[in-house]
Amino acid sequence: MVSIRTNLEKVQEKMASACRKSGRKESEITLVAVTKGVEPVRILEAINCGVKEIGENRIQEADSKFGLLPQEVRRHLVGHLQTNKAKKALELFDMIQSLDSLKLAREINRRSGEKKVPLLVEVNTSGEAAKTGIRPQETLDFLQQLAELENLIILGLMTVGPLTDDQTVIRNSFHTLRNLFEQAACLNIPNCKMEYLSMGMSSDFEIALEESANMIRIGTAIFGPRN
Ligand SMILES: *Cc1c(COP(=O)(O)O)cnc(C)c1O
Repeated sequence: MVSIRTNLEKVQEKMASACRKSGRKESEITLVAVTKGVEPVRILEAINCGVKEIGENRIQEADSKFGLLPQEVRRHLVGHLQTNKAKKALELFDMIQSLDSLKLAREINRRSGEKKVPLLVEVNTSGEAAKTGIRPQETLDFLQQLAELENLIILGLMTVGPLTDDQTVIRNSFHTLRNLFEQAACLNIPNCKMEYLSMGMSSDFEIALEESANMIRIGTAIFGPRN
């Protein structure tokens, strides 16, 4: 079996080369290791190799594993969140990358307690029916609607690229998110600071980096295929 360390080094080499290609600095890219379906011992191994941010897509799975991980690892929710699990998600995660409805936003705002909740808005840039996320043409309005929810802090946008091998289709999808990110940054919404453009997974992160992603979410390329 190929080691996590070797896999990570390969990902980092590809990140470096994609950055060189588009004149960017590697230091501005945040790597989130997506640990869904991965046993805690293997997550710990990745952490030992320098992983500082991890992503999970299910509350229950995260809850069963997070207690075994060091406190300082940053935890991202990258999967769809049901409104009735918002409270639990706030206990478990440092950032929720999958804000995809006003109903969920209101519930998170209500449950937030003392501290402001860092979130990314998920946009369905591919238009695939199976994917969650706000429609691109509704995203800027959505951000404006969030302005009144004072306990939220919107730190950027997230998307999952289309399920295809067609590089042009994938690139268009990422380009759409990048345009929205730039437009959103100009709106000057008080609780909205466009810092993170989260796009790119194992199969498409190099395209995402060329399209200005500064946060990529990698599972398979680090941990190998999931069961
Ligand atoms: C599973 C998942 C990833 C990682 O996918 P890989 O193809 O294994 O790299 C990234 N983002 C989200 C939202 C995911 O659900």
